[in-house]
Amino acid sequence: MERLIEGFKRFRGNYFEANRGRFERLAGRPQHPRYAIVTCCDSRIDTTRVFDAIPGEVFLIRNIANLVPPYEPDQRHHSTSAAIEYAVRFLKVGQLVVMGHAGCGGIRALLDPPKEPSDFVNLWLEMAAPARDHARSRTDVSTEERQRCCELETLKLSLNNLLAFPWLKERIEDGSLQVDALYLDLARGELLLYHLPTGTFAAV
Ligand SMILES: [Zn+2]
Repeated sequence: MERLIEGFKRFRGNYFEANRGRFERLAGRPQHPRYAIVTCCDSRIDTTRVFDAIPGEVFLIRNIANLVPPYEPDQRHHSTSAAIEYAVRFLKVGQLVVMGHAGCGGIRALLDPPKEPSDFVNLWLEMAAPARDHARSRTDVSTEERQRCCELETLKLSLNNLLAFPWLKERIEDGSLQVDALYLDLARGELLLYHLPTGTFAAV
């Protein structure tokens, strides 16, 4: 814990002090983020830093491999779907993004499942099985390229699942919400934007 507490003290002494007014204003009213981003839990993906965002600007939804589940309003616990619903129907964000990344450990585990059994992880990743099957069918590419292919296919799958949420579709149709997919490659310092009509990713 010491490292975290030391870090907090530095935050309070520096960033917090320099932005005290902003934090007081933010805390004194309900949040009103402009963006919601579904991204991976991966500790290397520091989403707010990547977008140079300030506190209050991004509603962040994180899970392993940035997956959006299918729309299934049943009696089970749906953390990601609940967060998406909250962002879209209640916070009314104007932009929703699903962001994948290169070298995703979740995607690696999807392509090459670990031997140890898991209570939740394997079942969670299984959601992206069609993306895995597509990537595995690419026998002409290197392991690295297959991984990237699976990461990009998973993003498309998540985006498709997202577009089937009925209240989200309504907001896209009335022009109040924009939905996009991004892919972050930290090693290359590159961000790719998905172009839905052509089904391709291109650097921003
Ligand atoms: Zn990841």
